[in-house]
Amino acid sequence: MFVFVTIIFVFVAYTISIKFVFYRYSQLWRHLRNKISTPVYTVGNASFCPTQERSSALLRNSGEDKPRVTASETRALLVTAHPDDECMFFAPTVLKLVESQAAVYLLCLSTGNYNNQGLQRKRELLDSCAVLGIPSDHVTIIDDKELPDDPAVQWSTALISSLILKHIRNYSISVVLTFDGSGVSGHANHIAIYMTLRHLASAGRIPEGCQIFSLHSISLLRKYVSVLELPVSWLLPSDFCCIIGWEEYKRAKKAMLCHRSQLLWFRRLYILFSRYMLVNTFQGITVETKNVKIY
Ligand SMILES: [Zn+2]
Repeated sequence: MFVFVTIIFVFVAYTISIKFVFYRYSQLWRHLRNKISTPVYTVGNASFCPTQERSSALLRNSGEDKPRVTASETRALLVTAHPDDECMFFAPTVLKLVESQAAVYLLCLSTGNYNNQGLQRKRELLDSCAVLGIPSDHVTIIDDKELPDDPAVQWSTALISSLILKHIRNYSISVVLTFDGSGVSGHANHIAIYMTLRHLASAGRIPEGCQIFSLHSISLLRKYVSVLELPVSWLLPSDFCCIIGWEEYKRAKKAMLCHRSQLLWFRRLYILFSRYMLVNTFQGITVETKNVKIY
């Protein structure tokens, strides 16, 4: 009897905590969007956030609850390695950014030609982006022999650097999102993108005002418990967090189904159980700047 009551208690407590996470998140989404719209300048260990400082000063004087930087000014670039990465790992982020009127661009560095299905996978990627809300003219798919879909091949850092920097400049990108050092699934191509961006950031080659965030890789246990993982993601520290509800999950699932060539049985299980279909948490990468502006 005691065990039964304990199980019921834990179940109810967990359900309430998940509801609390959704509620708190919807309250804080505005604050989070502003966070990625605001440039951060860093020197050594010190970070300066001039826009936020000025904004809070204005708030104190005028008492207006009006953000200085709006989400519509956010121009986000998602850098992925293969068609399907955008919805398999980043769907919550893309959906939230699109919903908040941000301009979202996708740079996919290969056609996913590992099984000679590159042409089909390019079409599937465009279909998936249409579902997620990324227009086709914001999608760039690189087809280069130096960047094959192959974990055994080391991608050229110089080539990735030039492609990313060109995109940041051409589209006036204010935030870049990509994998972290473990690549979420451990794929070498994912990790190569992170290594390149980290190098660009530490070398001071990222244009001023542009921020970089890397998607947290988590343990296998947390990865496949779906909605049950949400309170853990909420409690652990992260610089940026995106959580979606049921309607948005259905869109993420629809985007996944566009990748017909990849729909093996384990992909269907992934759609049902992966926490990345519901929540994304990011760590900011420190960007060194050569010309620091302090207001
Ligand atoms: Zn991938």
